[in-house]
Amino acid sequence: MVSASTQSAAGRWTPLDRRGRPLGVLRLSLTARCNLACPYCLPDGVEPPGLLTLPQRLRVIEAAVALGARNLRLTGGEPLLHGGLEELIAAVQPLRATRPDGPGLREIALTSNGVLLSAERARALRSAGLDRITLSLDGTTAASVARMAGVGNGAVVLTKVLAAIEHARNAGFDPAQGALKLNAVIQRDVNDDQLLSLAALARERGLELRLIEFMDVGNSNGWQPEAVLSAAAMVERIGARWPLEPQGRAAHGTASRWRYRDRDPASGGAHLSVVASVSSPFCGDCNRLRVTADGIAYTCLFAAPGSGLDLRPWLQPDSAAAGLSEALTGLWNRRADRWSEERQEAWSTADPTPRHAEMAYLGG
Ligand code: SAM
Ligand code: SF4
Repeated sequence: MVSASTQSAAGRWTPLDRRGRPLGVLRLSLTARCNLACPYCLPDGVEPPGLLTLPQRLRVIEAAVALGARNLRLTGGEPLLHGGLEELIAAVQPLRATRPDGPGLREIALTSNGVLLSAERARALRSAGLDRITLSLDGTTAASVARMAGVGNGAVVLTKVLAAIEHARNAGFDPAQGALKLNAVIQRDVNDDQLLSLAALARERGLELRLIEFMDVGNSNGWQPEAVLSAAAMVERIGARWPLEPQGRAAHGTASRWRYRDRDPASGGAHLSVVASVSSPFCGDCNRLRVTADGIAYTCLFAAPGSGLDLRPWLQPDSAAAGLSEALTGLWNRRADRWSEERQEAWSTADPTPRHAEMAYLGG
């Protein structure tokens, strides 16, 4: 029997879900729109009505932090399309933990495709108080980038993302400290020929590369199990070129880490990570709460559309903060989802195509 809350080292009560998992990360989507059209994600380009305002977003973040969230990840859609991004980052600074083991935010991070990350924007994000940036890039050739990003001119996107890496580095996001990383989604027979060149690119630039298995998020990406290249296969291919040593997966983390044997572990680019959410799910210690740009809270990336909790009734100007906190606590206490673990079972049932909310809406 799992109790509904637990006391953290800092003496605060954190809600537990029905599987005993505490709340630890808030992934907040700022927009469902995107400037790219990656076929594995396929945003519909339409912003949902009733987007949260800055004060409403701050209330959601405050409530999640009070309930135990230590990390805030800003995402989308493409979060750099949101003009108020820097203002939001600056506004959450007072929520930072003041002691290493104390309550409050420990990390504020951003996931972006990087196309709009100019030198000026990177500096503005850094001065607003952003700690980390993860940029997404799924290939090293114009043709593969065009295919994976769903654009006509892959060379333009590639050039912009490579420039974005340097803008972020120059603004103070140090890859050796883990403040700048690269995400790549790998699809079998689509861009798995890019594995070695992506690893080489990340190694040359001193970045940790995070290889993500193609996931069955959303309903429009035509996901089939055959299109997944397992994390183990990715590690095998890269390890055959540059020998790797396993470092394990951090508690509540999504990525298993590997170290390149030929690199000094303290240097940037010494590590490779793989996110094996399909072949080796990590639902057992998932601690993520997701809130969409229009204020719907979801507790699983693979949730069905319409199954989230609309937080807006508790975000009206006259609503008391306690109402939002109770709503989130109730949602977390009811949480039992372990979709990724149940995937095989679900695919063998009469309904082999369970519906999922779209990735660009949920916030990847
Ligand atoms: N637009 C930003 C970006 O691409 O980085 C942020 C949002 S995107 C939804 C967040 C992450 O989800 C990206 O790294 C993207 O590659 C990943 N992603 C999207 N759809 C995916 C899928 N079907 N399987 C695995 N990863 C996916
Ligand atoms: Fe846009 Fe990111 Fe989805 Fe690609 S993965 S379409 S960049 S939201």
